[in-house]
Amino acid sequence: AKETFETIKKREEEIDAFITLDEERAMEKARAVDAKGIDEGNVLDGIPVGIKDNIVTKGLKTTAASKMLENFNPIYNATVMDKLDERGMITVGKLNMDEFAMGSSTETSAFKKTKNAWDQTKVPGGSSGGSAAAVASGEIIAALGSDTGGSIRQPAAFNGIVGLKPTYGRVSRYGFIAFASSMDQIGPLTRSVYDNALMLNAISGHDFRDFTSSSKEVPDFTKEIDEGVKGMRIAVPKEYFAEGVDANVKQAVKDAIKKFEELGATVDEVSLPHTKYGVPVYYIIASSEASSNLQRFDGIRYGFRAEDVKNLEDVYVRSRSEGFGDEVKRRIMLGTFSLSAGTYDAFFKKAAQVRTLICRDYENVFENHDLILGPTAPTTAYGIGEKIDDPVTMYMNDILTIPVNLAGLPGMSLPAGFSDGLPIGMQLVAPRFREDTLYKAGFAFE
Ligand code: GLN
Repeated sequence: AKETFETIKKREEEIDAFITLDEERAMEKARAVDAKGIDEGNVLDGIPVGIKDNIVTKGLKTTAASKMLENFNPIYNATVMDKLDERGMITVGKLNMDEFAMGSSTETSAFKKTKNAWDQTKVPGGSSGGSAAAVASGEIIAALGSDTGGSIRQPAAFNGIVGLKPTYGRVSRYGFIAFASSMDQIGPLTRSVYDNALMLNAISGHDFRDFTSSSKEVPDFTKEIDEGVKGMRIAVPKEYFAEGVDANVKQAVKDAIKKFEELGATVDEVSLPHTKYGVPVYYIIASSEASSNLQRFDGIRYGFRAEDVKNLEDVYVRSRSEGFGDEVKRRIMLGTFSLSAGTYDAFFKKAAQVRTLICRDYENVFENHDLILGPTAPTTAYGIGEKIDDPVTMYMNDILTIPVNLAGLPGMSLPAGFSDGLPIGMQLVAPRFREDTLYKAGFAFE
């Protein structure tokens, strides 16, 4: 643990991945593990882990990278934190992210700009940019992130590591600071596929405190991980190679296809015709849910409260105006508009209907295939400051990850090569609750 903190402090000068470090408690826990001796049957015992700052940690500041929660010190743990504690993992601190997980570059954080682990002039991706950069730079070996529209997979791709978004319902959302509740999932970021499977083992499972959590049995994801891909049927959607995807990214995925064929899988082209509606549908649904979830930040119960307020209305308006950043406000406005009486049918309802069509696209493909393969993001990491003033370009970048959340499917990004010194990520998508297939394929490919 001491070495971990030495490494972190050295690397942090360049990376800026952590919002809060919890050195004292981590050291204390490490000493306790030393005193009792490592539990040989539990590979996670005593292993340091970093946690995205929208996952509630008892007695450890949890900000969601927002001024609104700058001084929020939770009195309870998210379910995933209890699970990691049970396994003896040691939380070293809380990781930077886009404010309330809204963004793709970690630049909307109210506190700091995290840098890409490979090139400090580039963004780390987002919204789990702190989690990805901390793992890729060697500060820690595992982190938890969250993924509502790509926020684990895209930063994993930008930093050359493995990131998995579990099936909706696989991991409890209790104690997760809600963004879009019908899509939010917590998941692991690691350097290897095997470590990722170990982490998912630890955090999965039914939780009575999250009524969308599944009671489906959780297999040991490491058990058949080395079975290989012989006979696996992989689908490659032609829509994932559309305009806007970099030539080098396309080439890396084509090379991956060749490798899977050599390993004994069959690969064929398919179509997911509603892919192009993914981004607009997501921004209507996610913003609507966010506008509702964020109502609780009213300056009264907890979080930031403006000073010198005149009356109750003033408390609400000024606290929210001063506490939320621009991107969060943009989403709240978009969401409340889509849900308004006069516009609901044209926007929210329509989006919900198209969401069903997107789900059916996947169902059709999975009738004859085990996996879908494509790029994780259209480009590699871009420069800090390069896209932050152009929200629509930023939103379009999530076109390959977003439909997976709309359909509640598991998706994993893993390294697939480099372009100009920056990592390229490829994405594997499986039917609901088939994370085992993702890990098998990823392990064979790695
Ligand atoms: N970039 C997407 C957004 O800004 C996804 C974020 C996420 O998955 N949390 O909404």
